[in-house]
Amino acid sequence: MQILIVEDERSLAKALKKILEQQGYFVDCVHDGLSAIDYAKGLEYNLIILDVMLPKLDGFEVIRILRKDGVSTPVLMLTARTTTGDKVTGLNSGADDYMTKPFDTAELLARVGALTRRRGDVVVNNIDYEDLTLDLQSAMLSCAGQSVQLSHKEFEVLRTFLMNPNMTVPTETLLINGWGMDSEATDNNVEVYVSFIRKKLKYLGSVISIKKIPKIGYRLEVNRS
Ligand code: CA
Repeated sequence: MQILIVEDERSLAKALKKILEQQGYFVDCVHDGLSAIDYAKGLEYNLIILDVMLPKLDGFEVIRILRKDGVSTPVLMLTARTTTGDKVTGLNSGADDYMTKPFDTAELLARVGALTRRRGDVVVNNIDYEDLTLDLQSAMLSCAGQSVQLSHKEFEVLRTFLMNPNMTVPTETLLINGWGMDSEATDNNVEVYVSFIRKKLKYLGSVISIKKIPKIGYRLEVNRS
């Protein structure tokens, strides 16, 4: 189960990510409305947890754009606002459920469980992209009958790429997914792990490579000869 958290309060985003990961969900975090749209269109998430007050584009606009563009991923809106008017706006704009902050963890998990089950309990075990298969349980990366074991950070970094294969993934996103929001890891740590992954991709003979986009991040490239 893959969940996208859209929340600009980083401490809250981090806490939510931790709570959900403890329950076995895979979680990506973004912190503004435009990134939310990029991510939500780039991958089939099972659920989007969406704050209302966000930089660049507010949550209501985000959900309107996603629904207009045919993204039907369930959305749980999460907001500090408590008025009935906002609740109606949220549900009218296409949200599936609504919770106000501060929320109770047990209630959040119950709602997340209900919304992610709605899609028929499809459990995603692998991510496939081009000639690669990443096993989400064992962190084994396979290509053409060969497999290598990924370390935890290699797995988190590569998983982030494979879930967003057509995007330049910001270095910051890789840092958050691999090392956590409060970590003191830097761009150099990401570079080192990307180089480890590159070696494994080369060993497997994959058509996929990872290209650095200076000052932004990295993206996957498909090398067809
Ligand atoms: Ca906010």
